[in-house]
Amino acid sequence: MSVTSPDRRNNDEWDGDKNGPSIDEQQTFDRGPLGMDPDGIIESNWDEVVDNFDDMNLKEELLRGIYAYGFEKPSAIQQRAIMPCVKRHDVIAQAQSGTGKTATFSISILQQIDTSIRECQALILAPTRELAQQIQKVVIALGDFMNAMCHACIGGTNVREDMRKLEMGVHVVVGTPGRVNDMINRRALKTNSIKIFVLDEADEMLSRGFKEQIHDVFKTLTTDVQIILLSATMPSDVLDVSKCFMRSPIRILVKKEELTLEGIKQFFVNVEKEEWKLETLCDLYDTLSITQAVIFCNTRRKVDILTDEMHKRDFTVSAMHGDMEQRERDIIMRQFRTGSSRVLITTDLLARGIDVQQVSLVINYDLPSNRENYIHRIGRGGRFGRKGVAINFVTEEDRRTLHDIEQFYNTHIDEMPMNVADLI
Ligand code: ADP
Repeated sequence: MSVTSPDRRNNDEWDGDKNGPSIDEQQTFDRGPLGMDPDGIIESNWDEVVDNFDDMNLKEELLRGIYAYGFEKPSAIQQRAIMPCVKRHDVIAQAQSGTGKTATFSISILQQIDTSIRECQALILAPTRELAQQIQKVVIALGDFMNAMCHACIGGTNVREDMRKLEMGVHVVVGTPGRVNDMINRRALKTNSIKIFVLDEADEMLSRGFKEQIHDVFKTLTTDVQIILLSATMPSDVLDVSKCFMRSPIRILVKKEELTLEGIKQFFVNVEKEEWKLETLCDLYDTLSITQAVIFCNTRRKVDILTDEMHKRDFTVSAMHGDMEQRERDIIMRQFRTGSSRVLITTDLLARGIDVQQVSLVINYDLPSNRENYIHRIGRGGRFGRKGVAINFVTEEDRRTLHDIEQFYNTHIDEMPMNVADLI
C-alpha cells in the first residue's frame, strides 16, 4: 500500500503548536469509521482477526518462543493488532494495561527484525525505567530461540556501560526518552537502521513532560519508519502525535472487559448443615492446593474462625479481610500473587478487582449475600480464554438462593463430580 507521509523529521507544527496540528485529518485518518466486533469489546478499522498464533505466519523460532513463554491463544488485542503491525502499517492501540499490548508489539518487532544484522532495528520508548526493563524481559523471552538481543537504555545506570553495549550492536533498544535521546546524541545509538518505533504508554509519557525528547528522537528517524503507538487514553497530546507523525494508522480500541461466567465450570456440594462445611472443605484440601484457590466467607469473623480451624488441622491457609491493616493485607496479597501461599480465605473485600492469574478455583464456603457478588467472586475477563472452577457449598436453606443465582445469570450449576480435581 502506498501512503503519503508527513515528514516526521521536521514536523515543527507539533513542536510548539498548542492549537493542534494543521494537517488535514482526512490525510491521516482516512480509513473510515471504527467498526465494532460482535462481542463489543473491540472497535477497529481493521477487519482481519487471527485467533491463533499458528495462523499468523510467524517465524518458526518466534512461534516456539511464544509457546515456550506459556501463551496458548492470542488475546483480543493480539488477534487484531499483530497482523497490521507485521504488515508494517502504523498502528494505534488503545487499551488498558494487562490486555496484552507489550506482547503485541514485542511479537511484531521480533517478526520483523533480521538477527543476522547486528544493528538496532526497533526502538521502544516507555515512560518509566521499570516498564522499560519489563519490556526488555518480554522481548528477550519471546525472542529466546532467535537469539534476539535487546538492551534497556534507562536513566540511573552507567552511561559508559550503556554506550559499550550499544556500540557492540543489539537488535532492539527499549528505554526511557531521556536516556535514549542522550545515547542518540552521543552517537552510541545509531538510528539509520531503525524501522519500527514504538511509543508505549504514550499518554503517560506525554503527561510526564517527555514531549520534547520524543520529538527529538522522531527527528533522527528515517521517514519510512513504522510507528506503533499504545495508550490507555487518547488525550489531545497523544492525538497530536498520531496526526503529525502517523500515516493512515490502523486504530484498535479495546474497551474495558466485562466479567463473564463463560468458561467457568460451576458446581455445588450439598453440605446439608452449616456444621458440615468444615469437613467438606478439609476433604477438598488436596484438590485446592493443586493450584491456587480462594475461599469466600460472608463475614470477617467467619474468615478468622475457619482459618483457625484449618490451622488446627495442620492445613496451610492464609486469610485476609478488611479488619487487617493495609500493610498486612499487602503482604498477604503479595504472598498469594507470587504463589508462596496457595489457599486464601477471604471476604467479598477481595472479590472486586482481584487479579490473580493463577487462581483457577474459587470456593463459596458461604453463598454470597447478594447475587451481584457472585460474578465478582468467580467471574473473570475472557481475555486469555482462562478457565476456572467454582464450587458452592450449599446447605438446605441455601437451595433457593442457588436457584436464584442460576436464574439471574441464566446459567447452570451442577452437582460436583468425584473427579473435580481433573477439571482444574
Ligand atoms: P499490557 O502490556 O497491555 O499491560 P501485557 O502484554 O504485559 O499487557 O500482558 C499482561 C499479562 O498477560 C502478562 O502477564 C502477560 O504475560 C500475559 N499475557 C499476554 N498475552 C497473553 C496471551 N496471549 N496468553 C496468555 N497470557 C498472556
